[in-house]
Amino acid sequence: MNADERFKKLIAHAKEYGFIFPSSEIYDGLAAVYDYGQLGVELKNNIKASWWNAMVRQHDNIVGLDSAIFMHPRIWEASGHVGAFNDPLIDNRDSKKRYRADMLVEEHAAKIEEKIEKEVEKARQKFGASFDEAHFRATNVNVQRHLVKILEIRVRLNAALQANDFKALRQLIIDCEIPCPVSGSRNWTEVRQFNLMFSTRIGSVSDEASQIYLRPETAQGIFVNFLNVQKSGRMKIPFGIAQIGKAFRNEIIARQFIFRMREFEQMEMQFFVRPGEEMKWFKYWKEERMRWHRSIGLGDEKYRFHNHDKLAHYANAAVDIEFEFPFGFKELEGIHSRTDYDLSRHQEFSGRKLQYFDPETGESYVPYVVETSIGLDRMFLAALSAAYCEETLDNGEERVVLRIPAALAPVKVAVLPLVKKDGLPEYARELLQSLRTDFNCQYDEKDSIGKRYRRQDAIGTPFCITIDHQTLKDDTVTVRYRNSMTQDRVSADMLPLIVAAGCRQSQRPLQSNL
Ligand code: ATP
Repeated sequence: MNADERFKKLIAHAKEYGFIFPSSEIYDGLAAVYDYGQLGVELKNNIKASWWNAMVRQHDNIVGLDSAIFMHPRIWEASGHVGAFNDPLIDNRDSKKRYRADMLVEEHAAKIEEKIEKEVEKARQKFGASFDEAHFRATNVNVQRHLVKILEIRVRLNAALQANDFKALRQLIIDCEIPCPVSGSRNWTEVRQFNLMFSTRIGSVSDEASQIYLRPETAQGIFVNFLNVQKSGRMKIPFGIAQIGKAFRNEIIARQFIFRMREFEQMEMQFFVRPGEEMKWFKYWKEERMRWHRSIGLGDEKYRFHNHDKLAHYANAAVDIEFEFPFGFKELEGIHSRTDYDLSRHQEFSGRKLQYFDPETGESYVPYVVETSIGLDRMFLAALSAAYCEETLDNGEERVVLRIPAALAPVKVAVLPLVKKDGLPEYARELLQSLRTDFNCQYDEKDSIGKRYRRQDAIGTPFCITIDHQTLKDDTVTVRYRNSMTQDRVSADMLPLIVAAGCRQSQRPLQSNL
């Protein structure tokens, strides 16, 4: 099964089992908008809880916030979103499809990178054990030719983007002979700017002043509340404000399932520091965020850093944490050193001072900010895609299993009476009730026990508890573990401890040295 087929299966699985539905499906859907179903909302809540715990509860100097989605329209002028939150668009005249011009070029460069990997693979097979990969990459003519090409493309792309030079961007697409993925033709329009913010009107008067935007990021809600939180919470620099909330972007390329949505959720933290100390904190948060990802247990090899060549207008350093999604390594989280850009701009636009008096130095200043920003939906897709597994068992049977880390699993425990009689359902219901206060549980008495195990595997339930006739005699039950499919006979009153320990173990401990 190739990556594309696997991804399609994952999307179908997510729908079949109530994780994700296309929005407004009975009206044929709404592009790039999705609804989270009964299990999806549980997984989402567990991801949020894990992030909130790591960022807010584990740090004395980070607090939470829940700011409104609607904000004063001047905020988006100050932040630069009205003027600069634009994507360069290009249309193919034959397919009538619209693309982000920079992404067409990036994808073209990625294809050349694939060619390099193919050359390396070919050579590995040819030379076997004596293959020296580093030497091959450094000396092979084809590899070198591809590398030079990629470099040339990236240099031209960055120069065009930095200078907002759309003619140069279009020329790059023409020179690279990039075809439209749909029509295959190279019949391109000019490149145009497109603002990604959704706007609407507030109040009953429909004049210019009443136009407002749906926030395209949660960060600005934190900046405009910086002094409120600092003063009311008596926060001392360095300190952070964390927020989870919806953001909206009128994305042009509405593909790749929940990877790129028009309505999505962000988990952001802005860390306010002394001017001049931002690089220290940037490095700190870069490592710290990667440690959180690794602690989740989706596989260390699935993550990598990607340094930004082109910095946003507000940043003096930026790095992405990329995840290996079913369609390759792509941005999951961004860590940005935003300088004092945002607070200074809000100071200028609002006319209010946004300064901090530092009791240690006796100075007042506008703090610098290091931001960590992760898309909740992308993290959801990361967890789901890493977990999805089709297995052939020793007895030849097939099973689909979601190996979601127990701490994130939507349902932790399934309680299953072996048969629907002899008092087993009554016992099972009582046990269910006692476990429910601590864990999300399901009860299932329909079909054979094997079928019920399969249903729980398919939704990622880490523990299945079976109640049989022996249970009525000695209060012992069978625990069946999702990953290994092994079973233990244990005393029923041990279950809360076993499940809690399993959930804790699935997440490696995070040691913060803040
Ligand atoms: P991209 O380059 O993929 O468009 P970005 O660099 O614009 O992303 P940021 O503005 O840094 O993204 O947003 C921070 C995080 O929010 C991203 O790392 C991503 O996880 C998430 N995010 C951004 N746009 C979307 C979207 N349209 N749908 C889902 N998540 C998103």
